[in-house]
This record gives sequence, C-alpha cells and structure tokens, in this order.
Amino acid sequence: MNILNLMELIDALPAEIKTIFSRIFEISTKRGKFILPETMREWAEERMGKCEEQMIVRVTNKVTFEGTLFNDLRSRRPIDVKVGEELEKIIEDTKGGPFCNPDTMTPSDVFGRVRGKHCVTASNIAKYDYLHAVLIFKDHNPFIDDEGKIADYLDTAMKWIVKANEYDNKAIYPFFMWNCLWRAAASIVHGHAQILVADMPYSRAEFIRNASEAYFNRYGGYYFEDLFDVHKSLGLAMGWNGVKLMCNLTPVKEKEVVIISGELEKLPYWISRTLNCYYRLGVRSFTLAMFMPPIRDVDGWEEFPYIVRIVDRGDPMSRTTDIGAMELYAGHSVVSSDPFKIMEELRSEFENQ
Ligand SMILES: [Zn+2]
Repeated sequence: MNILNLMELIDALPAEIKTIFSRIFEISTKRGKFILPETMREWAEERMGKCEEQMIVRVTNKVTFEGTLFNDLRSRRPIDVKVGEELEKIIEDTKGGPFCNPDTMTPSDVFGRVRGKHCVTASNIAKYDYLHAVLIFKDHNPFIDDEGKIADYLDTAMKWIVKANEYDNKAIYPFFMWNCLWRAAASIVHGHAQILVADMPYSRAEFIRNASEAYFNRYGGYYFEDLFDVHKSLGLAMGWNGVKLMCNLTPVKEKEVVIISGELEKLPYWISRTLNCYYRLGVRSFTLAMFMPPIRDVDGWEEFPYIVRIVDRGDPMSRTTDIGAMELYAGHSVVSSDPFKIMEELRSEFENQ
C-alpha cells in the first residue's frame, strides 16, 4: 500500500466513512511531465530512474487548511538510514556545556526551579514569551526514547506550568515543545525541551479549536474522532486505551506522526515507541510539539485533547533546510516520505513490544 493508491483505497471505503472522508479531505492526482534532452538522459536516469512522468498526489484538509504534495518519485526512494560518525563526535564534544551544569550555568525562574528525576527547569535566557522555561534533561545525549524519562519530562513540565500559573494566575494556556538538534532550531546539543504558558492561547491551538467547533456545528460530529476513523479505515492509524496515533494524510513535513489523548499520563509510552522507531529509521533531528488544553476550565475548550505532533527535520549534516516558501506560505508542504510506509514501521515497533 502506498500514497499512490490513495484514490483506489478511498473508492473502496464503505459509503459512510467515505462521506466523512470527503467532509475533511480533498484529493487529487496529477501527472507532471517533461522532456529530457538525450544529452541529459543518462545523468537523470542514473539519479532518478524513469522520471519524465511524475505522479503528484495533492491532499488538502478542508477543516484545518493543511495541505501536502506527495511526489511518487521522491516517495519511491528507500528510507535512508545512515548516521554519520561526525554527528556522534559533535554530541561527544559538546559535553560539559551549560546544560550539563544547569545550576551554575543557566538562570532560574523568579519562582525557582522544578526538579524531576531526569530533568530540571531553567528560565529561558532569551524568551519567546514572558513565561518560558527550558526543561533540561539529565542526559547529554539528545536521543531519548525511555518511557520513564519522557513521563518525568511531562510531569515536570506540568509542575512548572502550575508554578508559573501561581506567579501569574492569568497564564493558563500552555504549549510544550521538544526540538532535537540544530536542524530543528535547538541552539544547544544537550537534550532539552521547552515550555510556555500564556494568558492567551497560541494561535494554532486556537485555530484548531475553532475549526473543530465549526466542524461540530456543521456536521454534529467530533473532528478528532472523525479524523481518526478516516485514517484507521485507510490503515493509517492505530489506537487503544484512549490514545489515537495517526500517520497524517497531510503531514507538515517528513514522517509526521500525530498522537491524540485526553490524558497526558498515557502519552509517554506512545512518544517513546514513536521516537524509538524514528531513531531506527535514522532520524536524528526532530520537532515534537504538544498542543494542550488550558489548565482551567474555559468555555469552548472542554473537548480539546492533548495533541502531540512529531516530525523528522532531516539530516543534521545537510546544508539545505527542510522548509521553504511552500511550507511557510503556500500552505502545501512538499513531502517525500509515504505515510503508509511510516505506518508500517510504527506498527512493527508497537507489535514487537
Ligand atoms: Zn550537556
């Protein structure tokens, strides 16, 4: 199964789920063509195989206006697993920096630090927003996949949010992020995550909440439930015990995985397995973001779950960035990785447990 079969897969769905699919998604498949001069043929076919016709699958989520363009030529390439010694050396050489010595080399918040078993908070020295902490992991090596450690990071983040809220009781809208390595905009190699809490929701969280509310008003269904059911029927989702995992049909970039749960405590296991799968596939730089409900009851936010999105940011040793105008402005990300292949990998990860 792959992204090129998407049309056929949708055609074969039961009518009821097909209706839900078409409420949320718009799909098109087109062929892009060109003519190679004979002088280029050998060079091009060596690198790209038969390439004068390229199939483009365009998926748009009409609820959230997220879109992705898949090119079959790109997605046919095997998943690249190579981890350079150079990267291992950089990680080794950066030991002993500020995050290895948080008490003496990082600022604390005015309300103090929160200490977990596997991490400690610092106040961010260059704040994105007025309440912004760094969650510094005890491990220098940033490639964490241990469930207990991840549970401790999330627990410590929640304790920090409570403390920050005691300092400013209007600050109730949290956001959690974990950027791994410089490709993902992390300025320090040592493992760390970040937490914000503010008196207004961050815009994307507010947008998603609004979109799901509008969806409910129009169709009487829960957006996240329907989104999951659609992915499940296509073989792009799995879930149990109140947790849903999907290889999104509109990934923001490579190998995106979305995990949704009403309860924070259930997430560490799923994040841990997903990251383990990522590392096995050679991912060495990723962005993990978690949308969270407000910490107090607010009208309109009652149904808002915890939403974790994890995305591969590409090879840390590459000189080109992974996002450009398409991602920043066009609203249609250009993606090589096939969600069906990533789902297969994740399935084997969870089944081998
Ligand atoms: Zn360190």
